[in-house]
Amino acid sequence: MAQIEVGILGATGMVGQQFIALLANHPWFKVAWLGASQRSEGKAYRDAAAWRLPMPAPEDVSGLTVEQAAPGRAPKLVFSGLDAGVAGEIEGAFAAAGHFIVSNSKNYRMDANVPLVIPEVNADHLKLLEGQAAARGWKGRIVTNPNCSTVVLSMALAPLRQFGLKTAMITTLQAISGAGYPGVASWDILGNVIPFIDGEEEKIQTETQKILGCLSGGRVEPHPVVVSASTTRVPVHNGHTESISVKLDQPATHDAIVAAFNGFRGRPQELGLPSAPLQPVVYLNERNRPQPSLDVDRGRGMTVSVGRLRPCPVLDYKFIALGHNTIRGAAGVAILNAELMHREGML
Ligand code: NAP
Repeated sequence: MAQIEVGILGATGMVGQQFIALLANHPWFKVAWLGASQRSEGKAYRDAAAWRLPMPAPEDVSGLTVEQAAPGRAPKLVFSGLDAGVAGEIEGAFAAAGHFIVSNSKNYRMDANVPLVIPEVNADHLKLLEGQAAARGWKGRIVTNPNCSTVVLSMALAPLRQFGLKTAMITTLQAISGAGYPGVASWDILGNVIPFIDGEEEKIQTETQKILGCLSGGRVEPHPVVVSASTTRVPVHNGHTESISVKLDQPATHDAIVAAFNGFRGRPQELGLPSAPLQPVVYLNERNRPQPSLDVDRGRGMTVSVGRLRPCPVLDYKFIALGHNTIRGAAGVAILNAELMHREGML
């Protein structure tokens, strides 16, 4: 099968690098175009990017020249890991010019006609694309994935919808790779915890309701779950850990909840998509798991690990969830979205 050429906007950043790593040897997609800021434009990728991943950058991509982040020469399908300060304008220009943008940035996530998708949780929300071009006047399309902490939370909450999810309280312990590169100054983060991440709590509270919501009459009806989030940055390289308490409408036993986590599957598993983990959510029985250093790469970084389910004296249950922020929380989920769109004939 001929491969589909793809472009990457923000190719030099943390998420952009993860796109390049995950797309090396991809069976369907081949990286053919890279875009970033004027700082990188005109340079070979190997000279433009401060490569931060443990595997070497693929040779063919290292030799590509980074281009201006403007539509024209890029392939039809473009992944975006652009800085949010510029993503709105640039992604909009690409969509207007006919590109299909699969974006990590916050700018379009909450727009009524833009799907905000985790393929295992709300694949049907891609139907919003049917009205998007007419509503926005674009020849192309924009699909988004959630904020990295929201991905982990939504994947942990999705299996609990069957018990009538009412309230979720969450405190995050977020890795430094979530702040991009160079990100947080070492002076600020070493031996420290920073109890503020700008805009993160609002994103978790609103995006989760959209993702868990139902598509009805061509729009998403947000899920009624009330989410209260507190976010912190901790000195961990990769992996967002989340302490979550939930209130449920219906009684549920410990075993029923564990079975719901372990039995959770979605469209990517049904279709056997290349980036789909066999098990999207795994419950760990050990009393001191999940931990970022041991569990972040489960399912090639695409599985959310959950553990320590126990009664909550305030709500009903509490547990810990962990997911890889630049793979399941960013580039990996975006690639899974594009794989789903390709298999569903939407590209
Ligand atoms: P980053 O490391 O700071 O990378 C930002 C990218 O945007 C770089 O490639 C940069 O290019 C490019 N850029 C900046 N200004 C530009 C301009 N004026 N024109 C064109 N390109 C420009 O950030 P990141 O962590 O990869 O995050 C990228 C996006 O994904 C953000 O919107 C972020 O909120 C979101 N996100 C991140 C994570 C995570 O875990 N890191 C998770 C989910 C979502 P230069 O190198 O040339 O400056």
